[in-house]
Amino acid sequence: MSKVMIVTGASRGIGAAIARRAAKEGYAVAVNYVSSKADADKVVAEITGAGGKAVAIQADVSKEADVIRLFKETDEKLGRVDALINNAGIVVRMCRADSMTAEILEKIFAANVFSVFYCTREALKRMSTKNGGKGGAIIQMSSAAARHGGLPEESHYAASKGALDSMVAALAREVGTEGVRVIGVRPGLITTEIHNAHGGQALLDKAGPTVPIGRAGRPEEVAEVVVWLTTDAASYIHGTMIDVSGGR
Ligand code: NAP
Repeated sequence: MSKVMIVTGASRGIGAAIARRAAKEGYAVAVNYVSSKADADKVVAEITGAGGKAVAIQADVSKEADVIRLFKETDEKLGRVDALINNAGIVVRMCRADSMTAEILEKIFAANVFSVFYCTREALKRMSTKNGGKGGAIIQMSSAAARHGGLPEESHYAASKGALDSMVAALAREVGTEGVRVIGVRPGLITTEIHNAHGGQALLDKAGPTVPIGRAGRPEEVAEVVVWLTTDAASYIHGTMIDVSGGR
């Protein structure tokens, strides 16, 4: 039977690339999305068209009840999860700290941090040997912004990703002896629609050449690393952050 992976926010961008790459690795993939049903269906069709297994599951991972349903639907449609990729994330919008609003903070921490705690909890119930599971891997999608502060007027985004870096270190100690590996991945500047929040393609064209490697990255370059981290080839990588950021 195929191993099962849940990728949150897999309708486009980095998540979609992870879902496609994971299916090639033999995973049956739960392609989660919040509103882009057509895009998620397209990712599923690409995977199944190539002989893989995938289902699209709508769930707003910032909402606890939706996350519980996402995992239940995955249990029913694909089986118990072996790998969880907490990829869904948002910028909301640019805002200096001296104008920060409760609305922005609530939105970003719900989508980027609370979601990761909800999904991690549901995964651990199924993966941890302490809970009767057979182990697994959990990847938290952080950002190089957690290290260097990110783009201007996005302290809310950088801080939400910094929370994940701390969580990786703490969680690794909790579950390392229960068969569950926890790793954080910090992409740098990657060409996706997330940048529509602060300049889109023009921003990517301007910032790309300033990255030490001389360009923005592709979603597939992140996906390759993420999927590898879930495999036995990475069996001793745990409780650490992996930068996929072209040197930035
Ligand atoms: P993206 O192209 O904007 O895609 C975001 C994905 O997340 C979409 O599939 C979206 O679903 C989903 N999503 C957003 N909120 C959600 C929610 N509440 N529940 C479920 N799904 C939700 O973003 P991306 O650039 O691929 O980013 C993926 C991750 O990498 C994020 O965590 C981001 O912070 C991180 N990252 C990105 C970069 C970069 O330069 N691109 C750099 C560092 C880190 P819908 O399509 O349905 O809206």
